[in-house]
Amino acid sequence: MSAKRTRLYKDKNLHKINSISELSGLPFTTKEDLRGAYPYGGLAVSEDKIIEVHTTSGTTGKPTLSFLTRKDLNESSKAISEAWRAFGITKNSKVMFIMSYGLFSGAALNTYAIQSIGAFVLPAGIQPVKTQVDFMVEFGIDTVIATPGFLLYLYEWMAANDFDRSRLKLVRAIAAGEVYSNKIRREIEKKLKIKVFDHYGLCEVNTGIAYECDKMQGLHVIDDYVVPEIVDPETGKVMPEGEYGELVLTSLKKDASPIVRYKTKDITRIIPGKCPCGRHRIRIDRIKARVGETLFIKGIKIDPYELRDFIREYLGKSFFGGDMQIVVKDNDIKFLPKIFLSLVQNDEKIIKSLTEKIYEQTRTRFIVEHADPQFFNREKNNKVKFIHHE
Ligand SMILES: [Zn+2]
Repeated sequence: MSAKRTRLYKDKNLHKINSISELSGLPFTTKEDLRGAYPYGGLAVSEDKIIEVHTTSGTTGKPTLSFLTRKDLNESSKAISEAWRAFGITKNSKVMFIMSYGLFSGAALNTYAIQSIGAFVLPAGIQPVKTQVDFMVEFGIDTVIATPGFLLYLYEWMAANDFDRSRLKLVRAIAAGEVYSNKIRREIEKKLKIKVFDHYGLCEVNTGIAYECDKMQGLHVIDDYVVPEIVDPETGKVMPEGEYGELVLTSLKKDASPIVRYKTKDITRIIPGKCPCGRHRIRIDRIKARVGETLFIKGIKIDPYELRDFIREYLGKSFFGGDMQIVVKDNDIKFLPKIFLSLVQNDEKIIKSLTEKIYEQTRTRFIVEHADPQFFNREKNNKVKFIHHE
């Protein structure tokens, strides 16, 4: 990106950009651009101005970085705190993070934002579930931040351990870190007797930049901090308002790691009209999918998230935990794709009937296998994994 950015700065035409609509004339920034700039190539201030760095949790290649100056950190806290106020956080709230701190931006930047409201933060990070539950009880936690997979697992843990729900003061959870449907959200709400909010952000641009209000009609983008655009992921053309495409973000207030037209790979749309809550922020829909995560198995297109939700719904109480792993090999006629998941009890009959149901649903033969819950290393990474073997 550094090379591209240098070119941009030298381009006198850049000065002519004076309205948001002219953004579309600028080139995109991709994850590959950012990786190519590792470590300091994308830095737009001198090194002595930076006070913190965050990285993405990318599994391949170099991580992408986001640096912050003191001013960046203050601006970020101000922007993200708007989201936390909308979730109902006040200076009296007690918030616990069940997410990794380390170099990931989500937990750290949100912590600063919540503290700027004056609320209490318990930075639990990754701990065994029992420890997390003990913390919640002992500190009177009313809000947790976790992945939806963890929240479902939390319910199962409580049920399996005859835990008395009334010992918890929990009223809300912010579920983030993976794509989840409204159906899963309602399931978590019903089981844990809490309200679940979606919160969107990504390290490259800034964590926590779009949030749901209590009307739950899309996510309000903090649009004086980042500018959202929706483009066709193939052609890059800006989509008409209301149509789905890839979310592209431009930062307006970042000094150390400013970002122009970043292709997020997240599929959503801009929701036309105003939210009943009265906020004037641009709204985006909940993230529907990620570009490139649609599976093509023997010529059949499969949405892995729909498949996951179908399996969860079909298994109901027999399904242990929210995790599963789908292993596919694209375009190989002989390879049978596999799904690993955990059942409460490994039951051949359930596996067989599920295999048939999946076939009816997708017209694709999957081998379904029960795996020990430890297989997913759930407390460290509560995600559905799609593994493609080339
Ligand atoms: Zn609203």
